[in-house]
Amino acid sequence: LEQQAVHDSLTGLFNRRYLDETLQREVIRSIRKKSTLCLAMIDLDHFKEVNDRYGHQAGDEVLRGVGKILKASVRGSDLACRFGGEEFVLLLPDSTPSDAVRRLAQLQAQIEQLVIRVGSTDLTKQHLSIGLAASPDHAATSVALIAAADMALYRAKREGRNRIVVADAATSIGTDTTA
Ligand code: GH3
Ligand code: MG
Ligand code: MG
Repeated sequence: LEQQAVHDSLTGLFNRRYLDETLQREVIRSIRKKSTLCLAMIDLDHFKEVNDRYGHQAGDEVLRGVGKILKASVRGSDLACRFGGEEFVLLLPDSTPSDAVRRLAQLQAQIEQLVIRVGSTDLTKQHLSIGLAASPDHAATSVALIAAADMALYRAKREGRNRIVVADAATSIGTDTTA
């Protein structure tokens, strides 16, 4: 029962509820410890097309595959969670935005290489748009931190997807190798 209460059943990642419980505590801790807490809002690009072309079940398999890679990328006190739908949150305590960007770029590369077999077709090249915000740099409360990451994600989408945008900075790291 406890497993169900804090985990997402499709991916096995932590769920939104658990993130909400944890985030407030982590933000307070980061301020007290004068350390930087990074929050990445991660959204699959054009995911609706996967469902439309290959079916909802194929979409589920992609989400499971992404969840697996996210889980494997977690270390120490990091937290990976399914925020909802095709959106994920990665919480990185004691991490600078530049360290976080490096790790998120690796994550993008790994997910681009994910292969999901659907019948005789191989689904590949899933791209991620990522908004990154840090506490206390960009926000000093859990609500503001999520809002800042969300806004950066919105910019990542608008600026062409498949990229990482850091909140409140002019930094937009395009990782699009297909352009
Ligand atoms: P964008 O690049 O702007 O993010 O486009 P998008 O298609 O990824 O975003 P949009 O919000 O239009 O569509 C998200 C889709 O994700 C629609 C919804 O049906 C699908 N989805 C949400 N949750 C699940 C799920 O659990 N399983 C599957 N298969 N699909 C899901
Ligand atoms: Mg979305
Ligand atoms: Mg999407």
